[in-house]
Amino acid sequence: MEKVLISACLIGDNTKYDGGNNRKDELEGLLEFFDLVPFCPEVEGGLPTPRDPSEIRGNMVISNKGRDVTKQFQEGADKALRLCRLLGITKAILKERSPSCGTHQVSSGYFVGRLVNGMGVTARILSEAGIEVYNEEEAITLLERLQKRAKRKDAIHEKIVEAKQKKEEAEAKEIEKKARFEKKKERRESPDKKHPYKKDFEKGYKGKKEFSKGKKPFRKSDKPFRQNDRKFDKKKERRG
Ligand code: SF4
Repeated sequence: MEKVLISACLIGDNTKYDGGNNRKDELEGLLEFFDLVPFCPEVEGGLPTPRDPSEIRGNMVISNKGRDVTKQFQEGADKALRLCRLLGITKAILKERSPSCGTHQVSSGYFVGRLVNGMGVTARILSEAGIEVYNEEEAITLLERLQKRAKRKDAIHEKIVEAKQKKEEAEAKEIEKKARFEKKKERRESPDKKHPYKKDFEKGYKGKKEFSKGKKPFRKSDKPFRQNDRKFDKKKERRG
């Protein structure tokens, strides 16, 4: 099964800056199609949980207390890329609006709750390396597409199986028909069938002959001996 990197907080790992998670139950369906590899770049970069929230400002990542955490964010992103290369991962599902994982939007960098277009540090590095990045909403759309395709495939598979069954049944019927025909032909052509009573006749012939000797003559010469005898006597008398 294809391996896909996923933000650890999306599957319920408490890696979020406040110690919580961003679990999305709808993403569970992805397990049917992919091996999900959970990963949190901020934790892997060496930051604790909970931690101070951070935002991207220019080329830096700054915590709400003014701490520069760019190095940790960068390290987490590098580790994510190394993992993807190691496992042959070509897709990543990342949490939108995070300074690490955001794929289309991130916070403005001044902790005022404003969003700007842009990518998180990890999302950018993965995307630049040719890995397809999806946010959670896009991942749900991808999942729906995959489920539809799988349904279509199942329907086609069912039709193929049905057609095969019908074909096999038709073939079986044809074979049965042929076998019945062959059997009939064999019976018709067998010597016993040609002369169904031949054997009986051959067997009974002698008996018939013997029977005829006693009662009804079978041929002229088979006439009972006594009759021939009487004729001979008459001839004898005539001759004197
Ligand atoms: Fe989730 Fe990414 Fe933030 Fe980690 S860095 S908590 S995976 S959004």
